[in-house]
Amino acid sequence: MIIDIAISKLSAKLDEAHVDAALVTSYANVLYFSRFTGSSGMLLILKDSLYLLTDFRYIEQAKMESPRFNVIEAPLEKTTEFISSVCSENGIKSIWIEDEHISFKAYRNLSDTLKATELVPANGTISAIRMIKTDYEISCMRRAATLADSALTYISKILKTDITEKEAAIEIEFYLKRSCGVKAAFDIIAASGYNAAFPHAQPTDRAIGTNDHVIFDFGAVVDGYRSDMTRTLIIGDPEPEIIKIYDIVLQAQLKALCALKPGVTGKEIDRIAREHIEQNGYGKYFGHGLGHGVGLNIHEAPRLSEKSTDVLESGMVVTVEPGIYLPKIGGVRIEDMVVITEDGIENLTSSPKYLRDFKALCEL
Ligand code: ZN
Ligand code: ZN
Repeated sequence: MIIDIAISKLSAKLDEAHVDAALVTSYANVLYFSRFTGSSGMLLILKDSLYLLTDFRYIEQAKMESPRFNVIEAPLEKTTEFISSVCSENGIKSIWIEDEHISFKAYRNLSDTLKATELVPANGTISAIRMIKTDYEISCMRRAATLADSALTYISKILKTDITEKEAAIEIEFYLKRSCGVKAAFDIIAASGYNAAFPHAQPTDRAIGTNDHVIFDFGAVVDGYRSDMTRTLIIGDPEPEIIKIYDIVLQAQLKALCALKPGVTGKEIDRIAREHIEQNGYGKYFGHGLGHGVGLNIHEAPRLSEKSTDVLESGMVVTVEPGIYLPKIGGVRIEDMVVITEDGIENLTSSPKYLRDFKALCEL
């Protein structure tokens, strides 16, 4: 069902662009259009036939996972030959390639071999099909977000003041695997004290202190679909400026969440949160975009940023994650993952984010 919808969306895009076929090579797009989960494979999609090319290791798996496709055993060095013969047999004049993904070597091989077929850069159009999620995709992400919420509750309860960032990150990862049967959506961020000033910090051996703060940024994966959330936990009485910026970040996030609805652009939403942070004097300490789309990839279209022209539509799933990072002091980021609905949003993240709730959550 999900494959039928995906393939028919791609066919419509091909018709619109007057292109005959598509060569799908990126992992997330291969998974989206075929449900094939192997680490090596590509799809050749024609208007009336579907091919999945993979090597010996994945043949049986591919037949099982992707029954709609003709599974072809083609080791990497043979794929160009196969694509070329299918294109000439079917009179394919033009084929989309994922120009942002394909290697220079693979491109050169294809352009040297496919004499009668024009290679047309898809320019993100293939990936953009994934922006609008089906009910099934949203249900996976809702579940992934709920599991991440429960992992946050778990870490909040066991957090003690001598646990290191690495230990805390491992606890979350272990909880997701052991208690929820899922893996983490990406390398877990656990950044405390001054380390919280690094937006994408790696967990270190720093022990969480009695008067401290710690950013946890993580998610879970359900049937390939990811979730993404961030909470900044406040422990005891951290630096007063941390409490001050916490409130500014939270208000910025709430303003952006309230304004999210179909029709607004990524740029407009980013501006709402950024303006609040700027008005409070911390503009230069918010150096990243407000949010991003999530799905089979942790970062995908659409973008919520100063330059984004993406127009939000019902069915898109995006994060809203303003942050303020003060070098040598620390930082605060709060991130929710939401679905755009007909008249606003459904917030998939339900972990507490008001400071008064944290006091109850972290019984330190
Ligand atoms: Zn995140
Ligand atoms: Zn994120």
